[in-house]
Amino acid sequence: MQYKKFKDINISRLGMGNMRLPERDGHIDVETARAIIDRAVEGGVNYFDTAWMYHSFESQKFLGETMKKYPRDSFYLATKFHNGFQIDHKTMFEEQLKQLQTDYVDFYLLHGVGDTSGPRYINEGAVDYFLEQQQKGRIRYLGFSAHASTEYLAKFASHHKWDFAQIQLNYFDWLFKTAAEEYKILEERDIPIVVMEPVRGGRLASLTPEADAPLREAHPEWSIASWAFRFVRSLPQVQVVLSGMSSMDQINDNLLTFSDDTLFTEKDREILFEAARKFEGQVQVPCTSCRYCCDGCPSQINIPEWLALYNRYKLEGEWIIKRFAPEVKSEGKPEQCIQCGACSGMCPQSIDIPSFMTGLAEKM
Ligand code: SF4
Ligand code: SF4
Repeated sequence: MQYKKFKDINISRLGMGNMRLPERDGHIDVETARAIIDRAVEGGVNYFDTAWMYHSFESQKFLGETMKKYPRDSFYLATKFHNGFQIDHKTMFEEQLKQLQTDYVDFYLLHGVGDTSGPRYINEGAVDYFLEQQQKGRIRYLGFSAHASTEYLAKFASHHKWDFAQIQLNYFDWLFKTAAEEYKILEERDIPIVVMEPVRGGRLASLTPEADAPLREAHPEWSIASWAFRFVRSLPQVQVVLSGMSSMDQINDNLLTFSDDTLFTEKDREILFEAARKFEGQVQVPCTSCRYCCDGCPSQINIPEWLALYNRYKLEGEWIIKRFAPEVKSEGKPEQCIQCGACSGMCPQSIDIPSFMTGLAEKM
């Protein structure tokens, strides 16, 4: 296992996320999940991340119970306060210590700081309270995780000298979203980064056959997921890379990656970015939301909105459709498409709209 110095301690570069543990009958499959944690410890992982609501509020209790057989100073616990629940920061913190069976938390985070929740963390006293707890030694390092606009991230990151911050960082978001900008904001403030979603919820563990091919050719011994881990690990501001491991295969593959010192070269980076661009081009419908197709649709289907949902589904998985289809503002639904083709004739991007409507309807 590779380690990286953080202040006066050494943290494993691979951190164990406790949000995607194996489940059985809607609850954590304790036996299997414990075997994964034991394997992580055996492989040298010493950073364990959880949060109040993970696994329907079961994750912290599970982790507290599981880790008590290990000496408390042999691992680092990370958990978070979320202000989206009917429980104040003081009460939640005390309850978390109980659930984790500890009298201090190593890494404590304000959870999911966004443009609305962020000001509340400051104005409602949570930040000051946790800084006080840090003074008392009940929190070793205080940080935050963010899903904010880059403007607000910059503001929140400047509140004071945070010990660390957690952001969604992977090569896809680096190229096509705001991850590179977020990284720079934290780098400029010299805030060490804990990476979440390095493989984008598993979506980057396998691309398309055409996008995977150059990766396999360049390094046949690396799994596709391993490329994603190696990219984030190569960024100098990155401290820990979290992986929500839910199977023995995943942990074993990750342990291999994080015990391999092979450098991730400029050439590797170029190959990866090219594969990512190929992948993006293949899975994304190139709709520009011009709406030329909309007026002529006899079923009043809001085509660009549904295509945006389709793009999210291709990147993040099928759950996106069930979760977000009810929120699409559209008179007509994909299953009401009569395949008349009036839309395709109007589309400057030559998108085969009826076939995408069929694809969506089949998943709903
Ligand atoms: S093919 Fe479907 S989406 Fe396109 S105009 Fe006809 S009904 Fe509307
Ligand atoms: S005409 Fe084509 S590009 Fe424009 S909104 Fe419709 S599908 Fe998208």
